[in-house]
Amino acid sequence: MAFSFSKSNLPKQLFINNEFVASKHDKKLKLYNPADGSLVADDVALAGEQDVDAAVAAAEKAFPAWRAISSGERRSIMNKFAQLIEDNTVALSELTRITLGAPYVSFGKFEAGLAAEASKAFRYNAGWIDKFGGESWPQEDGFMKIVRNEPLGVTAGIVPWNGPLGTIGLKAGPALATGNCFILKPSEKTPFASLALGPLIKEAGFPPGVFQVLSGDGTTGALLASHMRVRKVSFTGSIATGKKIQEMAAKSNLKRVTLELGGKSPAVVFDDCNLDNAVTWTANAITANTGQVCFAASRVYVQEGIYDKFIEGYKKAMEDKKKDIGDPGKAETLIGPLVDEAQFKRVSGFIERGQNGQGKLLTGGQRIGDKGFFIEPTVFTDVDPTSEIHTQEIFGPVSVVRSFKTEEEIMELSNNTNFGLMAGVFTQDINKAMRVASNFDSGMVGINCVSLMFMMTPFGGSKESGLGRECGIAALRAYTDPKTIMVNLTY
Ligand code: NAD
Repeated sequence: MAFSFSKSNLPKQLFINNEFVASKHDKKLKLYNPADGSLVADDVALAGEQDVDAAVAAAEKAFPAWRAISSGERRSIMNKFAQLIEDNTVALSELTRITLGAPYVSFGKFEAGLAAEASKAFRYNAGWIDKFGGESWPQEDGFMKIVRNEPLGVTAGIVPWNGPLGTIGLKAGPALATGNCFILKPSEKTPFASLALGPLIKEAGFPPGVFQVLSGDGTTGALLASHMRVRKVSFTGSIATGKKIQEMAAKSNLKRVTLELGGKSPAVVFDDCNLDNAVTWTANAITANTGQVCFAASRVYVQEGIYDKFIEGYKKAMEDKKKDIGDPGKAETLIGPLVDEAQFKRVSGFIERGQNGQGKLLTGGQRIGDKGFFIEPTVFTDVDPTSEIHTQEIFGPVSVVRSFKTEEEIMELSNNTNFGLMAGVFTQDINKAMRVASNFDSGMVGINCVSLMFMMTPFGGSKESGLGRECGIAALRAYTDPKTIMVNLTY
């Protein structure tokens, strides 16, 4: 299928009931290109109450037939959709690039990689469709028990700007595979790739109302999170918004909530590690997607014996990254700008304040160029553990490094945070690696790697980094309620 959209023909309308429709709301979204600050569009639909109600009504209408559709048919629609994403990966990534600035040939082809992740998620979840029906027990005490995994109904996914394509598959994939209808609310900063899915949704064969896209800002998200007929919200974004969403869910209809929130993930590098491996993973982890990654390893703790050597390698690796930064439209570029002026000011503010007594600037810290929102990969050493650069999520290519003596001491510091998304440990001692992995308070741990994920394993955080999990069978459970049926066989 020929892709319908391009830079000069952007999707700007809401996708409801398998059609593009104008928003009934007067307010519009305004988008800028972070590579040069130019205006991309100022007339993108912002869904208001009437639009949200229309999408929810269409989803409710579509739900009975969609939940009842044969597993083979549902699977083939989802696989066809995955194929259409794959066929249009570069075009979709291009639509993301013009507002996020992620080069589509960046670190591991980051956003194009995420478009591929989105299609992978649809294929992965489509494969579960006829394997996640439920369980049954044979007759015992005169009763047979059947447990069915029932879809919830109308579900919604509210996603952030930093990985707009990747997050779609993680939410829509399991939602649709388990027979729910799904409304996607992309970030106000990156709506195009989501809206552009409209024709692909229709072409794949999703019936009207099953999979819809509402561009908008936090007000649109809040309308979904507090809607009485939306049964589940899966949210990825900041902790502050996540808490509001949980509150809205509780105050409305006690809708199910999955929260994927922020992080300040530690990487603990022991003396006995493979140094090159540790340097490569930690430097990549904080610069991929310009550090705008929830599970980026932003705190690096290095044992005394290897500290000087590590610092030498890490500084060089971070400085070498500068040659990868540039116009995200160019093939040689691996790292783009920060998403917008607000994010640039936020990250620069942390760097500026960080130099006032919080730590020692090892490298970076400067703006690159005079247009767009490019910034150098930045490292602070000798950081005060109570300072904001050590305790808060910066969401840019900025890491803090400290040395440590003992495992006990570093476990305490690693866990002394309200975050708990990802952690990494670098050592060649498997016993130590497993012990440290067990002792991290985090949803995910990498051993001799960090800041990575797989489709088949639970993805998410502990403590304030999240609630519930995406990926794997955990995601399917999060979009269903078990229904227990007890059959009396005694009369
Ligand atoms: P954000 O919380 O500002 O916005 C995320 C989404 O929520 C957007 O679509 C926004 O429109 C919507 N929203 C804003 N206010 C709302 C409200 N009151 N009610 C309902 N919806 C609302 O986050 P962001 O700035 O877009 O993203 C950055 C944050 O996301 C970072 O903290 C990052 O760590 C986190 N993140 C987490 C993961 C993860 O999987 N754990 C992945 C990516 C990003």
